[in-house]
Amino acid sequence: MQRTPDPHVPPRPAPISPRVALRAIVVEDSEIDLLVLLSRLKAAGYDVHHRWVDSLDALRAALPAEPWDVIISDYVLSDFDGLDVLNVVRESAPDLPFIVVSGAIGDDVAVAAMRAGAQDYLRKPNLHRLPAIIDRELQNSAERRVQLAAHAQLRESELRLHSILATLEDIIWSIDLKTQRLVYLNPAAVKIYGVPATAFLDGSVDWLDMVHPDDRDKMRLSFKEVSKVGNLTTEYRIVRPDGEIRWIHDRAQVVCNDAGTRIRVDGIARDVTEQKSSQARLFKAANFDSLTGLPNRIMLSERLNRALLRDDGGNNLVALLFVDIDRFKVINDSMGHDAGDDLLRQIADRLSLALRAGDTLARLGGDEFVVILPDLARASDAEKVCRNLMRAIEPPVELHGHPVYCTASMGVALYPQDGGDAGTLLKHADLAMYRAKKEGRNTLRFYNHEEGGAATNRLELERELRSALVNGEFELHYQPQVCLVESGRITGFEALVRWRHPQRGLLSPLEFIPIAEETGLIVPIGTWVLREACRQARLWNTEFNPDLSISANLSARQFSGSDLVDAVTGALGDSGLDSRNLELEITESLLMQDAAKSVRVLRQLKAMGISIAVDDFGTGYSSLAYLKRFPLDVIKIDRSFVSDICDDADDAAICASILALAHALRMKVVAEGVETASQLAFLRMHHCEVMQGYLFSKPLPADDATALLRSGRRQALGFVEIAMA
Ligand code: C2E
Ligand code: MG
Ligand code: MG
Repeated sequence: MQRTPDPHVPPRPAPISPRVALRAIVVEDSEIDLLVLLSRLKAAGYDVHHRWVDSLDALRAALPAEPWDVIISDYVLSDFDGLDVLNVVRESAPDLPFIVVSGAIGDDVAVAAMRAGAQDYLRKPNLHRLPAIIDRELQNSAERRVQLAAHAQLRESELRLHSILATLEDIIWSIDLKTQRLVYLNPAAVKIYGVPATAFLDGSVDWLDMVHPDDRDKMRLSFKEVSKVGNLTTEYRIVRPDGEIRWIHDRAQVVCNDAGTRIRVDGIARDVTEQKSSQARLFKAANFDSLTGLPNRIMLSERLNRALLRDDGGNNLVALLFVDIDRFKVINDSMGHDAGDDLLRQIADRLSLALRAGDTLARLGGDEFVVILPDLARASDAEKVCRNLMRAIEPPVELHGHPVYCTASMGVALYPQDGGDAGTLLKHADLAMYRAKKEGRNTLRFYNHEEGGAATNRLELERELRSALVNGEFELHYQPQVCLVESGRITGFEALVRWRHPQRGLLSPLEFIPIAEETGLIVPIGTWVLREACRQARLWNTEFNPDLSISANLSARQFSGSDLVDAVTGALGDSGLDSRNLELEITESLLMQDAAKSVRVLRQLKAMGISIAVDDFGTGYSSLAYLKRFPLDVIKIDRSFVSDICDDADDAAICASILALAHALRMKVVAEGVETASQLAFLRMHHCEVMQGYLFSKPLPADDATALLRSGRRQALGFVEIAMA
């Protein structure tokens, strides 16, 4: 039968299959009406599976029994109405299509039913429209289900995202570009900022206020920049409410809508404080000296290169100062490494204070400091700075409660005249410092081009020194010691080591003994000297004079080792030298280093029959107390006093009193560096027993010394009274 289309309902879509299954609950109190309704539906192509209910209880029981497609309900029922039905249905099936089919229903009731959630209504005479309404509702309900599923899915993924964002360590944020307001911030904010995300979101805390004041301008600019450029990575500090400062690494990205308009900036912020501080620690360890906190060699060369590169229209003048603490080793060995470290720290502080802000003070290791003076007006300013530094070092340093006096030797190399690069300048400043050391310490030397060519840097020297022993490059020269009391004859020799360097010729001990001491090479060198000196002396004893003595210099390093007594015993045993003919020279400072141990070793040596001389007397501590305390036989008055005895009343007085004192203690005196007859006369007048110096002879190679002995030459002693007149 052909139906006229109803303008209020959409045309029914052609059924996919000839019969459409429909599960329906029909609430109806008239069985006739039920049958009419069912036959209508069947005629429209539905294969209806239905449950007929006529009470609310029956409805409640039917609802959960099956997955219903639709509820078709009469409105006017025996003791309840359509609205009651609707309420029961909506309790358990809020989305189930509900269609009211009623014999007599006013418009107001119909509207109320629709408001309460019915999908549609129709009067029983219009029952032919029911299939179309059901079709539509089934379709709507299917759409709603899809929508609901999509919604549920969305919600689920939102929840998932939220939980991920909530567990993230990083801060995720989002700012609306139009309102410039923060629209999202995950909970990580509280961990990093110490302020809950909500406080930022509700505006009670302004993010920019938390940025470190020094970084605020930068961050204000970055925000403007990111909205222009599209993305940006920055690092800045924040100050947490508890005052803690943390470093934040922030990556921001502009987000556009489909139309390409910039709508948001999203970002990820991470706390990189630990990373920063370990980076800083690494940087510090790599570039700074751990003892003093000063720049180390690496940082020094970086700063030096920077200073040299400065473009100053060709007027860039830079000075490089090499500063080496005099006798640091003595202090370090005698007072212990803690005291040595303490000394270096105190000296470092003093040097820093004496410099300008733009200067660099670095420590190369040991007792070596280097200063860069960039941007100098004149070369002479470097000298002024050196003098300041020397003055800064001058006051005593307190170590273990004792005042210790320090001096430093300094070498200066200037850029550009003394070298065009960092390496050359450093080498030349080092050489100049080395010359300052050689020329009496506590002085300053500028690099000198003439000697620069011949000299090598100390590192090379150290390397060469190691092979020198193996290659037999050392030799001994012998300086005669002459009896001043009666004969003027040679009583013995001092053995003085020389290094016959393959390229640089004969080197003075002053050029390599300090390095040998620093590196410890002095121990094997010293042992060689002992053996060689004993061997030579034994030959002379046999050939010329059985009483001829030989003296050898000992350095602190040899003395502090445990092998000295063994080395001496070995040298004596192997050479066959009588121990009475061996004299060992030690310095005052050596005695002071470890007094208890010194006494012990000296007693052992003395017990072997060896005599002990104090070398360079008067230049060190010159404590008279130790003359009594240690088992000493000879005092050697230092050349610096002897050279001035005829011109300087003080030096004369010092020499005279050293002689008087030594004699009172029954010690023999050797005067070193005697160069003139008047010095000789003075010494004789004060009963100095032995002299050594150029006046009689310079140190000689073994053959020349042998020839001298053979010649039987003596020192003319003259008449003291006449010489002094
Ligand atoms: P020293 O033990 O005080 O030796 C005396 C130095 O004064 C020697 O210098 C000698 O050549 C120099 N001299 C002697 N008479 C005169 C003079 O009349 N006028 C002048 N101007 N100088 C004079 P040298 O040989 O250069 O030795 C320097 C220092 O090197 C020595 O001073 C000693 O401390 C050290 N030394 C030398 N050989 C050895 C060694 O085998 N072992 C150790 N540890 N040190 C050594
Ligand atoms: Mg000596
Ligand atoms: Mg000496």
